[in-house]
Amino acid sequence: MKRLSDYRSIVGDETISTIYREAKNLYGQRVLHINSTYTGGGVAEILTSLTPLLVDAGVETDWRILNGNPDFFNITKKFHNALQGDSINLSDIKKKLYIRANEDFSIYARVNQSYDAVIIHDPQPLPLIHFYKKRQPWVWRCHVDLSQPNAELWEFLKDFILRYDRVILSDVSYRKPDLPVEYRIFAPVIDPLSSKNKELSQRDIAKYLKKFNVATDKPLITQISRFDKFKDPLGVIKVFELVRQEIDCRLVLCGSMASDDPEGLLIYEKVKQRAKKLIETGDVILITSENNILVNALQRQSDVIMQKSLKEGFGLTVTEGLWKGKPVIASNVGGIPLQISDGETGFLVNPRDYNQTAKTVIRVLRDPDAAHEIGRAGKEHVRRHFLVTRLVRDYLSLFNEII
Ligand code: UDP
Repeated sequence: MKRLSDYRSIVGDETISTIYREAKNLYGQRVLHINSTYTGGGVAEILTSLTPLLVDAGVETDWRILNGNPDFFNITKKFHNALQGDSINLSDIKKKLYIRANEDFSIYARVNQSYDAVIIHDPQPLPLIHFYKKRQPWVWRCHVDLSQPNAELWEFLKDFILRYDRVILSDVSYRKPDLPVEYRIFAPVIDPLSSKNKELSQRDIAKYLKKFNVATDKPLITQISRFDKFKDPLGVIKVFELVRQEIDCRLVLCGSMASDDPEGLLIYEKVKQRAKKLIETGDVILITSENNILVNALQRQSDVIMQKSLKEGFGLTVTEGLWKGKPVIASNVGGIPLQISDGETGFLVNPRDYNQTAKTVIRVLRDPDAAHEIGRAGKEHVRRHFLVTRLVRDYLSLFNEII
C-alpha cells in the first residue's frame, strides 16, 4: 500500500509531517466516498490515490461504487452533458429511474451505520441522501463544469443538493448564486507515483508503444481522453489534418471506455469513420485499451499533448501531460486555464478555432527547445499545486471542520 512517506522526495518532509499533524484529531474517524465507477475518468483516478493516503494519515476511509444498470448510466450521462449546458428531455421516467437506482443501492448498502462523514461524488449518487436518516455530515463533491447547467435539470437536482452540508467544486467560478450552501474549492490532483505518472525508462516506453503498435518514426501528437463529445475527438482530427499539410506527423487518440459512460462506443465509431483513410495509413491510431503505463508512455513520447475539450471540469489529462514536462496545447475552457498560463506553462487555444490550434501545434513542433522550457515550467506548476498530498490536506481540513 502507498504511504505518505513515499512522497517525501517529491513534496518535501515538511509537507508530510504537516499532514500527520493535521490528521491527529481524526484518528479512527470513518469516512466514506461514493462514486459510480472504479475505473475510467478523473474521479476514479483521484479516489484510487487519495484513499490509501487518507488511511495512512489515520482516517479510516472507505470507497464504494453505486451499482447502477445500463438505463441508469444512460440517464446520468445525459445529466452529465446537461449539467455542462446540453439540452435534455427531462421526463418523469428518467427522474424515476435515476432515483430508483439510488433507492435500490441504499437498501443493501447500509452506508449510514458507522460513518462520521459521507462524500458523494458527481450527480449519479446524489439522491442517496434522500434515503437515509442523516447521522453525520454529507458532502457533495461535484467534478463537472457547472457554469451553465441546463436550468430544468439544475432545479431538479437542487432538491437533493440543498440537503448536503457542504458542496465541493473544482473552481470558484463554478459557484452558483442560486445555491445557498457552504462551498469548498478543491482543485483535482494527480499521483506522481501512480503507474500513470511515475518515471519510465526509455526502454519501457519503447516496449509499451511497440506492444500497442505505435511507431515512433514521426513526431507524435496525442490526446488521452474518453470518447466523449465534450472532449471533441472529431475536432482533434480536423486540427491534425491541418497540421499534416505542413508537417508529417502521427496522431494517437487514446480513450478507454468508462463503465459509467455508455456514449463512448458511439463517439468512437464516428471518429473511426471520419478518420478512416488516416487510420489505414497508420497516421491516426485509435486505442481503447485501459492501460495506465501505456498512457504514461504515450504522454512521455509525445511531442505535443492536446486537450481540445469544449467543456472541462478540470482536465486531469492536462495535469498529467504537464507533469511529464511536455508542451500541452489545450482549450481555454473550464479548469484548464487554472493549470495553463498561455505561453508560460503551456498553450491555450480557442477550441472552436481549428486554424489557431493547428498553427500552435505547428509552432511547437518546429521549435522543440522553446517547448521544452515551457514544459519545465508546467511541471513545476503541477508540483506546487496539483499533487495528491495537497488534496489529502484539503480533505483533512474539511474533516477537521465538519466531523
Ligand atoms: N484516462 C485513461 N485512459 C484513457 C483515457 C483517460 O487512463 O484511455 C484517464 C486519464 O489519464 C485521466 C482520466 O482518465 O487520468 C481523465 O480525467 P479528466 O479529468 O481528464 O477527464 P474526465 O474523463 O474525468 O472527464
